[in-house]
Amino acid sequence: MVISLRQSLPRLAERRYVMMKLISLLLSLFIVMPSLADSIQQPPAKQVLTGNWLYHWGDLPKDPTTGQWLFKQGKWNAIDFPADIPGQKDENIVWIKIDLPSGNWRDPYLFASSVDLTMQVFHKNQQIYHFGDIDEQGNGQFEGWPWHVFQLPNDYAQHTLYFRVFSDYPYIGLSGEVAIGDRFSLLNDVYQRGLAGLSFILILLLVGIISTVMGTIKKDRVVAISTGLLSFNLALMMFSENELSQVVLFEPLLWRYIAAFCYFLIPAFLAIITLAWLKEKPPLVAYVVLIITTLFVAGVALLSSFTSFSFVNAYPYFDVLFIVLVLALIIGCFSRFNKLGITGRLMTFGILALFISSVLDMLSASGLITWLGHAGQWGLVLFTLASLTIYLVQDWQQQIALNDLTHQLESKVLNRTAELHESKKQLEKLSREDFLTKLINRRAFSDLALNEISNAVRHKRPVSLVLFDLDHFKEVNDKYGHATGDLVLKAVASTTKDTCREGDLICRYGGEEFVILLHATEPEYAQLLVQRLCAAIKDLDVIANNKTIKITASFGLICLKDVTKHYENTEQVLEQLLAKADKMMYEVKVAGRDGVKVSELNTMESLTPK
Ligand code: GH3
Ligand code: MG
Ligand code: MG
Repeated sequence: MVISLRQSLPRLAERRYVMMKLISLLLSLFIVMPSLADSIQQPPAKQVLTGNWLYHWGDLPKDPTTGQWLFKQGKWNAIDFPADIPGQKDENIVWIKIDLPSGNWRDPYLFASSVDLTMQVFHKNQQIYHFGDIDEQGNGQFEGWPWHVFQLPNDYAQHTLYFRVFSDYPYIGLSGEVAIGDRFSLLNDVYQRGLAGLSFILILLLVGIISTVMGTIKKDRVVAISTGLLSFNLALMMFSENELSQVVLFEPLLWRYIAAFCYFLIPAFLAIITLAWLKEKPPLVAYVVLIITTLFVAGVALLSSFTSFSFVNAYPYFDVLFIVLVLALIIGCFSRFNKLGITGRLMTFGILALFISSVLDMLSASGLITWLGHAGQWGLVLFTLASLTIYLVQDWQQQIALNDLTHQLESKVLNRTAELHESKKQLEKLSREDFLTKLINRRAFSDLALNEISNAVRHKRPVSLVLFDLDHFKEVNDKYGHATGDLVLKAVASTTKDTCREGDLICRYGGEEFVILLHATEPEYAQLLVQRLCAAIKDLDVIANNKTIKITASFGLICLKDVTKHYENTEQVLEQLLAKADKMMYEVKVAGRDGVKVSELNTMESLTPK
């Protein structure tokens, strides 16, 4: 991933060939017939060049008359492969030579994965290929890290091939792989590798798109959008490092710029993701990582724009910085591991996995361990996939929690509404009830009595109304106290309830005055009931402070046999019934109290004053 970029200069015909090959390989990779690509043409073998390389530090001497390089005068040392040649010190030029093996290649070409940094290739003192420019004094300039494929002369096997390589970078020489073979075979390998890399890029793009879309429609934007941005950043980095990018556009330096800055930005994105995931307990080191990375990127951009410092020279420093920063981030996360939720813990392991794969990738790119293929790419892809998966799972859990909460809220609202309903009913009941006797009060009685009279009119039933007043009640109060008076009132109410029937309306009409509207009661039954009630009150023993209090009441009863003609004016009927009953009751009072006076009427007319 890091510094293993390889590219080259394709001709127009080559591009056409590449396109066709690309399509056929895409078919073979992603559709149904993997054998199709193979059936197009089986590439002939190639040979990787290892073992008989020689190198010479500094420029070779030149023949002053012919100006030709004097290859024989070089101080040549053997090396297995001329990557990162030892003993560079202050030298910027190294010469490398190899005797090429003979083979039966129809179209012999030489392939080089990458060069640190620019080179000229000579055969029989003729320059047959160059990448970048190296002047007479042995100075060159970084031009990117493309792969190279160039034609060899037909008599290549009889002569030695010389490479003049320039580098002011910590590494000098040829890196990756150098192979000789048929041009088709060499290119085929490049495109196969490129396509394999493209599948990683496609996954990253997909993760990027899903994350960004989720981020824009959901509330928890920072996690999703930072995962999306990291995915796009990684996809762009991988594509600029992919061997196929130079086929699309041969601008090795531009691709290197893009790859470098994408790579330099990784710790910043990791820090943002960490801050987003661990927002309850963000490790302070994440802010530090974010700041240092931003400063590094800005510094490198400025230095390479305005000074002779090349951004490519920032790579070795950044590799070290990357390890330090990401390691610090991991330590920061692990230091609060116990306080983290499940998602925070998973992210910590995700960053650790990414770190390990990146370090392995660096080691294999610099040749310190054997080549591991796509270790780094796997790490990056898995990390973004894991981040997206955790995000989706968390979002799903939040959705469930939200639903639960909504249900809880709904049932709470329902309960509360029921309670309120109950309270309202209670309040209504209280407003219609006499607090002392628990009988209905005058207001409730009016409503209910009017209703009862209307029913009586509709069903042609008689109406009987009783009004009674306790006799000499003032004396009870005066003699036994107000509280005892209350007890007497309650006892009278209770006796009345016991004596009457379920549907009768019993009301505390005033202080010690009660009214009963008897339900569907014929006059003779009404009289019997009132007589019984009068006797019951008289028999009542109210005991207070070891004293028995006796009480009597005076009753007025009015019975109306036919109410049918007065259905339009029930209020007036009630009013007049009450007035008549009161009159009856008053007559009892005058007559000496403790008795019943009854008035029976056939129709209402007799009530209406003429
Ligand atoms: P009468 O036989 O002529 O009706 O004589 P009375 O003493 O009953 O009549 P009066 O109207 O003079 O007195 C009624 C008394 O009832 C006066 C009042 O203090 C008492 N009273 C009214 N409401 C209450 C109550 O809620 N509790 C108690 N303890 N006494 C009450
Ligand atoms: Mg009284
Ligand atoms: Mg009274």
